[in-house]
Amino acid sequence: MYLHMISSRFAAITESQKRTSIAVEEKGRRSDLFGVNVFNQKKMLQYLTKDALESLKGAMVSGSKIDRKIADQVAEAIKGWAITMGATHYTHWFQPLTGSTAEKHDAFFDLLPDGTALEKFGGGQLVQQEPDASSFPSGGIRNTFEARGYTAWDPSSPAFIYGTTLCIPTIFVSYTGEALDNKAPLLRALSAVDDAATAVAKYFDKTVTKVNATLGWEQEYFLIDKALAYSRPDIMMTGRTLVGETPAKGQQLDDHYFGVIPSRVLSFMSDLEKECTKLGIPVKTRHNEVAPNQFELAPVFEEANLAIDHNLLLMDVMDKIADKHHFKVLFHEKPFAGINGSGKHNNWSLATDTGVNLLSPGSTPMKNLQFLTFFINTIKAVDTYEELLRSSIASAGNDYRLGANEAPPAIFSIFVGTQLSSVLDELEGVSKGKLSPEEKTELKLNVVGKIPEILMDNTDRNRTSPFAFTGNKFEMRGVGAKTNCAKPMTVLNTIVAKQLRDFKKEVDILIDKKSLKKDEAVFNVLREYIKTSKRIRFDGDGYSADWENEAKRRKLSNNRNTPEALEILTSKESIALFETMNVMSEVEISARQEVDLENYIMHVQIEGRVYNELVYGYIMPAALEYQNRLIKNVAGLKEIYGAAHKKFSEGQLTMIEEIAEHVVGIKKMVDAMADARKKANALKDTKKKADSYCNNVKPYFSEIRMHSDKLEKLMDNNLWPLTKYRELLFIE
Ligand code: ADP
Ligand code: MG
Repeated sequence: MYLHMISSRFAAITESQKRTSIAVEEKGRRSDLFGVNVFNQKKMLQYLTKDALESLKGAMVSGSKIDRKIADQVAEAIKGWAITMGATHYTHWFQPLTGSTAEKHDAFFDLLPDGTALEKFGGGQLVQQEPDASSFPSGGIRNTFEARGYTAWDPSSPAFIYGTTLCIPTIFVSYTGEALDNKAPLLRALSAVDDAATAVAKYFDKTVTKVNATLGWEQEYFLIDKALAYSRPDIMMTGRTLVGETPAKGQQLDDHYFGVIPSRVLSFMSDLEKECTKLGIPVKTRHNEVAPNQFELAPVFEEANLAIDHNLLLMDVMDKIADKHHFKVLFHEKPFAGINGSGKHNNWSLATDTGVNLLSPGSTPMKNLQFLTFFINTIKAVDTYEELLRSSIASAGNDYRLGANEAPPAIFSIFVGTQLSSVLDELEGVSKGKLSPEEKTELKLNVVGKIPEILMDNTDRNRTSPFAFTGNKFEMRGVGAKTNCAKPMTVLNTIVAKQLRDFKKEVDILIDKKSLKKDEAVFNVLREYIKTSKRIRFDGDGYSADWENEAKRRKLSNNRNTPEALEILTSKESIALFETMNVMSEVEISARQEVDLENYIMHVQIEGRVYNELVYGYIMPAALEYQNRLIKNVAGLKEIYGAAHKKFSEGQLTMIEEIAEHVVGIKKMVDAMADARKKANALKDTKKKADSYCNNVKPYFSEIRMHSDKLEKLMDNNLWPLTKYRELLFIE
């Protein structure tokens, strides 16, 4: 039995060493492939009547409703296209509160007993479906309202074919209208920011009628050989390694990760790019990551809702393509201790329907005033709601990453660079009320007018601030690799929408009541925002700062773990914010908090159970096996040499004792952890239970790990049952 266990490690290594790269067929040009599996604008023109096209476009742009007759036409057209593409099934594709996406497949046709085909995909099926909602978490919403859930078409994200299935992006709501997913609140937040930003953008350009939030995410991930991944129960069950000695050659040696990409990985990437291209995901692969086996993929930015669908789809596609290439892809935020974790930077901006990036400095003072308006309002929004933004990226996995050495701290600060900082400092000195002609000229020429130049030579790039301005967009860096970007994007767009709405009110009052000119009013309000949001700005190197103390000094929140971070969601202020912006009701917010807490509990609980299995099933048996061997050796030496044996067995005796010490220690810790889990499980209140898992269960993990890693180091390599870091991490 024991030998079988170790041999599975070596069998996996042997299997992984036999791998060769799988050739990827490259036919035709990439640009011809782009979007072939998507029912995009081009296909709409081809398959839809003029009426249907108009109506669909209206729904896409302004969210107007599509009537049933048109829906039937659209469904017919999509079905016709999908069938010619070889699709046999369709599904409503949605984003439940846990997990990434869900789907339920139905065939386009059913055969009746007499052999006639029954049409199953009409307007009704396109627009609305009723999945078995009971299997998805609802945070009590369904219990409260005894309502079932249904999915409803989101026409702003195009249908696509994946495998042989037509996927229709949908929201998931209860019959009483509460959102049961991540997409519905996101769409409401995007609509809120559209309204608020359009109103403000009109100060500068009357022709603006719509503002889209844009998102460019950067997905980091690890690739591990499939056989090796399967040989580790912790990777398979939790997505990360719960134990494992950091290899002698880890990240310290920079040389190897700048080296060539293994050919197996290259062919995986090329296959992945091809699939993404067909699905209309505009990827440009990069592979510049810090840790061994760690890679990054980033697309061209898109409208935020579409970008999020594409990220979720990408993660799914990656799983499948990785499998084909005998890899397992890890999206966990911290799969390996002592080695860089994985994040998903969210690059965010606002773009008008006139083609202007509102966070891009322009060529004229007026355009720069517009830039400054959106720039400063974003800073102000993040300052006011920093704690809420922090909560949007909280998860059990991200807790291992945030605040650790290489990742952004759990404390939100904004990096804007020293040069923009000095622009803000100058604007802080703008006079109250009306401005003299001299001051106006000075502002135009020397402050506002100078911005593009300044940004050109803005070289001080800070890498670790959680929220950073990077020239024409903000980059939110704390987002976890596995996180659905809809969560942070819902919060970010909601708070910016609220802030812009408040700003507009204040400016209008100054114009109407104090008869200030528009630009004077704007300067006056911005000046106050600069003053009141100073604490959030940070120009240093976020990495080396003593953020714990800095946070206290600046009165910024510092929520170190998920249960703590989620608390703010149901504060009076948060509820008021989401309700006034029509993004979420109190019921929906509480439900999300509940689901997130439950999700947290589940993750820590599973890790706890897997620790149990690792310790009793793998680590202790191995340690005892080796210890027995040493004991036999010492006994043998004693038999030969009698009392003089110590001269030869001193080292072995120490090792026997060291092993004993760690075996005793690890058993104590794992048993105490199991007890702590029992106590936590007995708690009825979800928050208390999550706290208990966080504060009473989780601390044992690092103790258990410490003993295991010591044992791994002490042990005969041939007897160690768990595939080692150095074997997992260096793809040939
Ligand atoms: P890098 O940071 O590597 O120099 P870029 O600054 O060009 O690269 O872009 C980084 C990421 O930011 C890319 O994924 C890109 O899609 C995204 N991005 C660029 N401009 C915008 C924008 N206006 N809105 C949202 N995301 C953007
Ligand atoms: Mg980045």
